[in-house]
Amino acid sequence: MATTENRKVRVRFAPSPTGALHLGGVRTALYNYLFAKKHGGDFILRIEDTDQTRFVPGAEAYIIEALTWCGICPNEGIGFGEGKHAPYRQSDRKEAGIYKKYVEQLLQDGHAYYAFDTPEELEEMRERLKRAKVAAPQYNHITRQNMKNSLSLPVEDVQKRLAAGEPYVVRMKIPKNQELRFHDEIRGWIVVNTDNLDDKVLYKSDGMPTYHLANIVDDYLMEITHVIRGEEWLPSLPLHVFMYQCFGWADKMPKFAHLPLILKPDGNGKLSKRDGDRLGFPVFPLQWQDPETGEISSGYREKGYFPDAFINMMALLGWHPGGNVDILSREEAINLFSLERVGKSGAKFDVEKTLWYNQQYLRMYSDEELGLMLAKELEKRNISFTATEKLPQIAALMKERAHFVADLFEPFFFTSDFAYDTEAIAKKVKENSKEVMQKLLLSLEKVNTWTAENIETQFKSFIASENISQGEAMPLFRFSLTGRSSGASLFVIASILGKDETMNRLNTGLRIIFTEINK
Ligand code: GLU
Repeated sequence: MATTENRKVRVRFAPSPTGALHLGGVRTALYNYLFAKKHGGDFILRIEDTDQTRFVPGAEAYIIEALTWCGICPNEGIGFGEGKHAPYRQSDRKEAGIYKKYVEQLLQDGHAYYAFDTPEELEEMRERLKRAKVAAPQYNHITRQNMKNSLSLPVEDVQKRLAAGEPYVVRMKIPKNQELRFHDEIRGWIVVNTDNLDDKVLYKSDGMPTYHLANIVDDYLMEITHVIRGEEWLPSLPLHVFMYQCFGWADKMPKFAHLPLILKPDGNGKLSKRDGDRLGFPVFPLQWQDPETGEISSGYREKGYFPDAFINMMALLGWHPGGNVDILSREEAINLFSLERVGKSGAKFDVEKTLWYNQQYLRMYSDEELGLMLAKELEKRNISFTATEKLPQIAALMKERAHFVADLFEPFFFTSDFAYDTEAIAKKVKENSKEVMQKLLLSLEKVNTWTAENIETQFKSFIASENISQGEAMPLFRFSLTGRSSGASLFVIASILGKDETMNRLNTGLRIIFTEINK
C-alpha cells in the first residue's frame, strides 16, 4: 500500500529524447507542474535515454526550450538546476553505476534471471508459438522453461557463460497465476493476473538498464510520490507495481495517475502529427526540424500563440475544474487542479477553440501593450515607422478581428505603397463614381479637426446633401485608403492616417480607378 501522505510531493516529467515534444507530452508536463505547485512540491525533469537506438540529437535541448517557453519549468533536473539526485539523465546514471546493484538485488532474491537467447532463438520461439496458434507469443512462465536462461540451464553452464562474457539480458521473473491489485488515481482499482504479463527485459550485459528498471529505480531514489503520465504507460503499471513489491519498496511506491489520450478533432483515434499537417495546426509547442529528414514541423510559438493561451487550452484538454470555466490564469489553474477531475476518456483536440483562446488572451492586453507588440512585428518585417504614438490606436482598431499579434499588422497603416485590389473595386465603379470621389475630396477638405467622429459626420452630411447612398461612396473611399473593399472602421483609419495622407490617397485612388481600371 502506498503511503505517500506524509511525504513532500515530488513529481517528475520523464521524457525520452526521441524527437520533439508533442502535445501529449506538453500536457503530461503541465499536469505534473500544476500538481506540484498546488501541493507546494517539487517538479523534476528526468531524461530517460536508455534506449540509445531511439536517441535523436537536439531532442533534449528542444524539451528544455519548450518547457521554458510554456512557462512550466521544473525546479529540479536537467537544464533547470540539478539537485541532490544528480545526475538526472539516465545514460549518465548508468555511467555512475546506479542501476547495477538493483539488478543484482533482484537476481539474488530470485525475482530476476539471466537469459542468453540470441535474437534468432527468440524469433524461432515466436514463430513456433504462432504456428501453435498462440495469439500473443511471450517470454513468460511457460515459454521460459524451454529457452536458454538461468532458470532452465544448469548452474555451471550459467556460470561458464557469464565467465566467458557471453552477452545476456536480465529478465523479470513474473510468477504464475498471481493476482495483482492496484490503484490508479484516475481509473480506480485495477486487477491483473500475472499470467497476462511477460518476463520483461530489465538490463543488458552492456550495463544498460531498460526503461522499466531505470524508471522504477529512479522514481524510488528520487523520492517520487506521484507518477502522472500518459495512458500508453498503463499496460506497464502491473509490472511496475510488482517491481516495487519485489524490491521491498511497496511503502514508498508512488501513486499513479494515467492521463487520457488526446484525440483527433473528430474523436476518431489518437491525435497524430499527420492530423496536424492535414488540418493545418501544429502538434508541437515549438517548431521542430527533424535532424534526419530535415523536415520542418510548425510550432505554436512560431505561429504566434501566447504561451499563456496555449497553456490555458492545454490545461483543459482532459481536466476541468467544473462549472462554466474557459479562461483560467496559471494561478487559478494551480489552485483548482486535482487529479480527481481528470477525465477517464480521451479529450478531443479542438482547433477552433485553440484560436479562440489566443484571441481572448490578445484582447486581455491593453492597447499600449499591443502597440509595443505591434512595434516588434514591424521590426520583424523591417518596416521603420516613426509615428509610434499611433501604434496603440492601430492595435485598438485591429484587435477586434485579430487572433494573433501578426493580425494587427496591415501594410496600409505604415506605407502608401500597398497593394490595391483593383478587381474588387472594378465591380463597384459606376457612372457617377468619378464625380462622387472628386466631391468627397472637396468635402473632406473642409474638416478642420481631423477626428474619426468629425470625418464621419462630414461624410454622412456629404452623402445626404448629394443624395447618394453610402454604398456608392464608401467602397471608393475605402479602396483609396486601404486598397481593399472591406475592413475595420474607415473613419478611424482615416483619422489615424491623418488629413494630408487621406487626401493624397483619395487622389491616388481617383487616378488608379480612372486611369488604370476605367481607361
Ligand atoms: N520515458 C517515458 C516516456 O517517454 C516515461 C514514462 C513515465 O513517465 O513513466 O514517456
